[in-house]
Amino acid sequence: MKYATEFRNPAAVAVLLKAIAASAEQIGATRTKPVYIMEICGGHTHSIFRYGLDKLIHDGVEFIHGPGCPVCVLPMARVDECVEIAERSGVIFTTFGDAMRVPGHRKSLMQAKAAGADIRMVYSPLDAIELARRNLDRDVVFFGLGFETTTPSTALSIQQAAREGLTNFSVFCNHITVPEPIRALLNDPDMTLDGFIGPGHVSMVIGIHPYDFIAADYGKPIVVAGFEPTDLLQSVLMVLTQIAEGRATVENQYARVVPEHGNPVSLAAIADVYERRPSFEWRGLGEIDESGLRIRPRYAAFDAEEKFGIGYATGQRNVPEVEGCACGAVMTGKMKPPACPQFGKGCTPEMPLGALMVSSEGACAAYWQYAGARAAAE
Ligand code: SF4
Repeated sequence: MKYATEFRNPAAVAVLLKAIAASAEQIGATRTKPVYIMEICGGHTHSIFRYGLDKLIHDGVEFIHGPGCPVCVLPMARVDECVEIAERSGVIFTTFGDAMRVPGHRKSLMQAKAAGADIRMVYSPLDAIELARRNLDRDVVFFGLGFETTTPSTALSIQQAAREGLTNFSVFCNHITVPEPIRALLNDPDMTLDGFIGPGHVSMVIGIHPYDFIAADYGKPIVVAGFEPTDLLQSVLMVLTQIAEGRATVENQYARVVPEHGNPVSLAAIADVYERRPSFEWRGLGEIDESGLRIRPRYAAFDAEEKFGIGYATGQRNVPEVEGCACGAVMTGKMKPPACPQFGKGCTPEMPLGALMVSSEGACAAYWQYAGARAAAE
């Protein structure tokens, strides 16, 4: 296969759906509930709804939407801290666009910008570096946000700033890691997951072996997957096949993109610039040990927490979420978005109450965009 359209071929999709149905029926003969498969990555959630895979797939399989959207798991306290930095005199605060509308307790970055803060959307941390070069009398702060997919580019920007001695550039580091929240989910006694679809882009960086514990310690299969319909369906079939055969291992459906041992250049940049925080707060999941990264002391001059004396550097954490928001239950697969009392009422993509409605990768926004449109059409 060479082109994206080949991964959306209806005949290939039909063959996979038939094989999934046969496998689900075989497994279903020995149990009363569906096979619960969590797609960890928000990009997969988006694809599942975009292509209607949740409707096409056999009733014996149910997708559970995981916490793999970095904007969605960002706790409100961190948004508040972004606003606090951005409102300081002399600061140019830079961010990816999808973080602009995440609600904070006082305001979102978008509202802070409307009120006069100098907040600019960028496509890369290197854009922020360029801004710093051109504004030597201002403090340019980049909002480092995301999983292992975006972590290396932030690391490279810090290394670049260090090489240039660009001390008016710093990073507000909120980078997080994928394997630790999966362990936290698996340790939840209420969790009834049977297997996982592993994230494709993150695994490009870290490879497939950081997930070994899922199979070895918890006996659950995980298949790293691509983002097209046949990718996802083939991955579901691979998970079901493992369950049917009584196996649990890490498999790589996305081998055309994901190297087994990850990307060595990215991994070296990550190791050079970051160290693990003892714990980090996740929206809906609480504090998770060693799930967040901070900037190493040798790069402290580029650490916005140190420079501005806020956030984890001062111990301010666990600010409560907005009342009535069920993001935590949705993110842990305990509730589907339409079951949230705020869905489509107090919370819409235009006026999001929770972060899952902000990003296109959030489960609530995906339901609203695709499942909502389908329901209206029906
Ligand atoms: S509908 Fe809004 S408040 Fe409810 S879970 Fe989704 S994002 Fe959170």
